[in-house]
Amino acid sequence: MRETLKQYAHVRNASELLSLTGLDMAPINLTELVRILDVEVSYDFDFDRMGYSGRISWTKARDTAEIWINPMDGENRQRFTLSHELGHLFRHMLPDYEDAEWAEGFSDKPIQFNRDGTASSVETEANKFAAQLLMPSHLIRHHASELAGEHRNSNGKIGLSRETFITRMAGTFAVSSKAMEIRLRNLRVI
Ligand SMILES: [Zn+2]
Repeated sequence: MRETLKQYAHVRNASELLSLTGLDMAPINLTELVRILDVEVSYDFDFDRMGYSGRISWTKARDTAEIWINPMDGENRQRFTLSHELGHLFRHMLPDYEDAEWAEGFSDKPIQFNRDGTASSVETEANKFAAQLLMPSHLIRHHASELAGEHRNSNGKIGLSRETFITRMAGTFAVSSKAMEIRLRNLRVI
């Protein structure tokens, strides 16, 4: 394993990763994160993989993890996919570095991102990691109260529709409105 990644190999949760790398700011800078981790990311067009959103595997020759992201997906989707693959890396691959079970890596079809509980526990865990990485709870609370404060009327009510609130928050964190809505609901902000 490359020295740089080895330094973070003990990390198991997204908030620890963000504070160790100093990237605890919205929107989370994933480009900088993968640069720090020394993980390889490619967005090459691959006709055989067009049914997939992303993939992570360990490249022995290069001694690091290699992530592929579907270049046809939108930017927010790509950010979620990349974070999901990092979830596989920190939750499933690095803890069991010598294990042959994940030697094939993980290939993710869009269905893996379903949040309705039909996905396997491994996929649910990677999704949870992704949500915590892209939308850290303390940053969500901070920006939510800031946004609400900006739109508070003299009568104390917030002059912002629920939909606009979600859209604005999604923009701040560079995630889809759907992902933000779920996160806000899980954190009981809405
Ligand atoms: Zn997955």
